This record gives sequence, C-alpha cells and structure tokens, in this order.
Amino acid sequence: MKIGVLALQGDVREHLDALAEAGAAGFPVRRPEELDAADALVIPGGESTTIWKLATAFELLEPLRMRIKAGLPAYGSCAGMIMLADRIEGGVEGQQTLGGIDMVVRRNAFGRQVDSFEADLDFAGRGPLRAVFIRAPWVESVAADVEVLARAGDRIVAVRQGPLLATSFHPELTGDARVHSYFVEMVREL
Ligand code: GLN
Repeated sequence: MKIGVLALQGDVREHLDALAEAGAAGFPVRRPEELDAADALVIPGGESTTIWKLATAFELLEPLRMRIKAGLPAYGSCAGMIMLADRIEGGVEGQQTLGGIDMVVRRNAFGRQVDSFEADLDFAGRGPLRAVFIRAPWVESVAADVEVLARAGDRIVAVRQGPLLATSFHPELTGDARVHSYFVEMVREL
C-alpha cells in the first residue's frame, strides 16, 4: 500500500515520518502522475488558501476532486481538514475546497481565542491523546452519516465519513502515531 502525502505546502516530512511509524510507506505527491500512483492520500496542515492556489497552479485540483469522488481514502489534518470539507465558513473570497466530507468547517475558529494550544482528547475511544491546535478550524456541523471521533470541549475536532478522515489538530507533531495508525488500519480494511 502506497500512501501519498500532498506536498504542495505544509508539514509533509512530519506526516511521512508518522506514516512510517504507523508501518506504511509514504511518498510526496506534487504531480498528477504521482497522485495516480497513490492508494491513499494525506493532506497536511499548512494554509488552506495556499494549498488551494497551488493545487490549481499544479493542475491537481480537479484530479484530486475526481480521485476523492471515486473513493480515494484520504486523511486531512488542520488545513487538510478544511480541504476535505464540502462547505467552509470564514474562507477568503472565492476559496475552494476539494470536498468529500458532508460537513461545515469554520476556518481559524480557535484562532480568535488563542492562536495555538494543546489539549488531551479521547480520539476514537483510543485513550487520551495530546493534540496540537495551530490556528485550527473546528467542525461547525456534520451530516447524519459523518462519525464524530473526537471533541475538544464541546467542539468537534475529528470526523470520519466512509474513506475520509479529518482532524483539526496536528498528530504528526507529537511523535504519537495513533491517528496515522487509525488511518492506515482504516485504509487496509476498506
Ligand atoms: N488556519 C489555516 C488555514 O486556514 C490552517 C492552519 C493549520 O493547518 N495549522 O488553512
């Protein structure tokens, strides 16, 4: 199984390391041919407006949308969560996502209170997990068939819908590969 990490912008290396820790071989994806070779995809944190603009410039936006629509398993952290949302709040003028998860995500939602923070949360019943939030979005609302995997306080911060997984936080920054392991297991079981 080959898991691509979208490498237009963001913390690509950390995701590759976390995937390796979870027992999967990752490789960077910058071109449509590389996307074709991926059995699954990680979309890293960074800046969703930049990822959107670079995906357009690199002619990856439509291929990404098509692969996701066709069932490509994908995991998005932070900006990656925004990219996987069908609808966003607080985007810049004309900002587009790839979509796939039937939810509304609010950009920079935690940002106005405090730019970065850490919290211990229960992720998918796998015990307390240290989560790092950096100008993070939260999930404003989800459709009935979207599974909520974690909350910070009363805010939804991790979800799954079919082959798509998204977290507001950055598990790739803590050296704890449980979220990546969850994704790798999920892809293997699909
Ligand atoms: N605030 C960023 C955005 O809107 C996301 C931040 C992050 O990925 N750490 O894309």
